[in-house]
Amino acid sequence: MSNTVPVILLDGLLASGSSIISEYVGKSYSFFVVNGNQYMRELGRSTGRVTAPKGTVLHELEILDFYELLAEEQAKVHNQLYSFLTSKISIAEKPTLVHCTGFAAYAFAKHLPVRHIFWLHATIDDRVDRLLAKHTILANDSEKSQLKEKLKKLDNIWEESLKNHLGINLRELESQEDTVIDTANLSTEQAFQKLATIDSFIDTYNSMAALMPDYQQEWRRWQCLVCQLVVETNKVIVQCPRCHNADPDKFKDLD
Ligand SMILES: [Zn+2]
Repeated sequence: MSNTVPVILLDGLLASGSSIISEYVGKSYSFFVVNGNQYMRELGRSTGRVTAPKGTVLHELEILDFYELLAEEQAKVHNQLYSFLTSKISIAEKPTLVHCTGFAAYAFAKHLPVRHIFWLHATIDDRVDRLLAKHTILANDSEKSQLKEKLKKLDNIWEESLKNHLGINLRELESQEDTVIDTANLSTEQAFQKLATIDSFIDTYNSMAALMPDYQQEWRRWQCLVCQLVVETNKVIVQCPRCHNADPDKFKDLD
């Protein structure tokens, strides 16, 4: 690849909330965001595999069936997704955050210039709730358990596939502290704040911050609007050292 912008991956199993959090992170830290998941959803519709109207349980079930089909046609889909991601990254002019489709993230990490992978862990109940909330769908209990069963089935297929094709053990990865963010019982806002305050994220961001268009060369004073502490730094402030506020809107630039 001719382009050398640094890339980080933000992912999780399907419906873990990583899509929304990727958008938050992109906006807050001015990453260029490439959403592989959205691409796959569009692919489902454009190939006629997904036909039910958006915003319905049936639509989501068809999307999950489509993912299952994709998982079985591993190589072909990987090539397609890989060329989508690399063509997007090749036009990026600043550090890029790639959000993929769970199972594919680790496969791509082998080919892309990835600085770090962040993996959101969520319970199966959280995932179904997030999926429904994201697409503003109302579902009854039996529809919810249908979605749950499908997600579980897909997890197993992908886990097997990663193990067999790439020698990647998802269970092992899910126990890496600097990678995995447990989002159980957290809102997306809280999950975002948790990610933004772990050392590995701050270190990774700081290592590429100078390449961001809005990077501050000079030292500035920031006031935390939660506890009023004034912090002097030449980096974009991500967390108040006193009260741990990590909301980018709750810092005031005093200079
Ligand atoms: Zn504070």
